[in-house]
Amino acid sequence: MNTIVLLFLGWLTAGQPSAGPISMTLDVDATDAPLKILHTTATMPARGGAMTLFYPKWIPGEHMASGPIANLTGLHVFADGQELTWRRDLVEMHAFHITVPAGARALTAKYDYVVTAGGAFGAAPSTNAKIAVINWYTVGLYPICDSPAAITVTATLKAPVGWKHGGSLDIDRVEGNTIRYAPTSLEMLNDHPVLLGEHFRSIELWPAGSPAGEHAIDVVADSEWALDFPQKRIDAYKKIVLEERRVFGNVGHYRKYHWLLTLSDNLGAFGVEHHECADDRVAESTFVDDDSAKRSSLLLPHEFFHSWNGKARRPVGLMNGGYEQPMKDDLLWVYEGLTEYYGELLAARGGLISAAEWIEEIAADALTVSEPGRAWRPLQDTADAAPFLYLAGGGWAGWRRSTDFYNEGTLIWLEADVTIRALTGGKKTLDDFCALFHGQNDNGRVWVKPYDATEVYDTLSRVAPYDWKGFFEKRLTAKSADLPLGGVEAGGYRYVFSEAPNMFTDPWALDGGLNAFGSLGIHVGADGLVDNAWPGFPASAGGVSSGMKIVAVNGRRFSIEEMRRAIAASKTASGPLELIVESGSYFKVARIDYHGGLRYPHLERIPNKPDVLREIAQPRAK
Ligand SMILES: [Zn+2]
Repeated sequence: MNTIVLLFLGWLTAGQPSAGPISMTLDVDATDAPLKILHTTATMPARGGAMTLFYPKWIPGEHMASGPIANLTGLHVFADGQELTWRRDLVEMHAFHITVPAGARALTAKYDYVVTAGGAFGAAPSTNAKIAVINWYTVGLYPICDSPAAITVTATLKAPVGWKHGGSLDIDRVEGNTIRYAPTSLEMLNDHPVLLGEHFRSIELWPAGSPAGEHAIDVVADSEWALDFPQKRIDAYKKIVLEERRVFGNVGHYRKYHWLLTLSDNLGAFGVEHHECADDRVAESTFVDDDSAKRSSLLLPHEFFHSWNGKARRPVGLMNGGYEQPMKDDLLWVYEGLTEYYGELLAARGGLISAAEWIEEIAADALTVSEPGRAWRPLQDTADAAPFLYLAGGGWAGWRRSTDFYNEGTLIWLEADVTIRALTGGKKTLDDFCALFHGQNDNGRVWVKPYDATEVYDTLSRVAPYDWKGFFEKRLTAKSADLPLGGVEAGGYRYVFSEAPNMFTDPWALDGGLNAFGSLGIHVGADGLVDNAWPGFPASAGGVSSGMKIVAVNGRRFSIEEMRRAIAASKTASGPLELIVESGSYFKVARIDYHGGLRYPHLERIPNKPDVLREIAQPRAK
């Protein structure tokens, strides 16, 4: 990618190879993937004197220093077959220093990547008895230099016998169970994960040569039954491709696009975007079960949207130039916020969910970000602090706040969309901004162009003149319990609560818990663990805090159903709701003075106001 800008050349690269391109090979043996270990041999030109091998640290799409260095094991380094000693850098612990004998030609590193139970995103468990998701950056030591874009890698991948493979990386040839990939830059290789699996299916949505170009869903699953998608779901994804491209004026910055879908109950639930593919992981039954399919419907449209918003057009602070260089996440309210808005919306335009269900999803988003922490931490800081907020667990999320630029981003970009429509009498929409901002020329090739906030405001003003800087800054810097519901209200709806469930208040990972934020101000796991108690809400006022475990409800053994029944019955109960909670090795009775019953968020029509939200949800592609 020739538009990559090199913003920083740190001390680490001083004295390292920088003159001219580097070619290396990376041979990954995944035959032991079911044993949760991958073996790698990396071979590169040797250069006499000091050399540094680097393990990727700041990972594009993950927005943080999440390269799983702790899982790099079994390292041996050789120069022309002679083993060398290595020493880890004491400050930059992803770097390994070696001294190469003068005259040595080839440097070879042999090492393993162990798949462990912890980790998030690409560092999450990635292999099991039937599946391996290969993220090259987890197995890729390379000679540190000015830019990973300047390193050409010829990679091979040996799969377990009988397993099939999917992905959008160009293949040179397949020999037995070894896939030989065409040479590509290290940057592109790391942007193209590969799926391996015994139960595999590649669903062609649009063929190469069609007006939309090549689009597919490559799927691995823990079972054959999980691959048996209903045709209506496949048809909806075909439509989503067209709807999504339509937003950008039918201009894309990829040669082909494959969703890489993993269906398993033990390999995590998340998505990571790439230019020409996405690593999407959901529960095993997700695509054969209508309810689960709807709850997770935002995921694939969201990651596809990133091909434009995040990969092609990228915040300048994320154009770090090398995996050792820190990322600045301050514009994630555009990168992720706009993508979250459209991910949910395009699921409706494509028919995965109805317009009414999309409107329910917006209400669920509003509940998620209504936690008390918004009174001290402005939304901007949830983006600035994203490198640690993504991984911050262990309770107290309601007071700490989470990566709220996703769900609050939906509300704010909805308001931007509704505002553009109002300012232009319905002639322009946020789609026009996307076509201008992301849908620039260079159709059909991988392309990166950085942006800053000023370009966002200026482009919005080209669509509809307005004080967009003031609009966003007000919402990004507010420290207030008030939600940004201007788009909902100007869109013809008001935010209300009722006993009727909202399917989107349960996360798409389907953890079997109970979202009682609207009533008691807590979320309870299936085992009774209170993983998030909002300070100032009824449960907290009654003495329940994050990390406690509910063992009994009104004197009866805890279950999610019992808990739900007790909250519903609180409406007519004369006394408080009584919980026995375990805290460490102690028990106590918490009496919660709450009589509001079950409360779930919804959007209700404001009579006689135009229904702008339904208008927004209308399909647009021919
Ligand atoms: Zn995203």
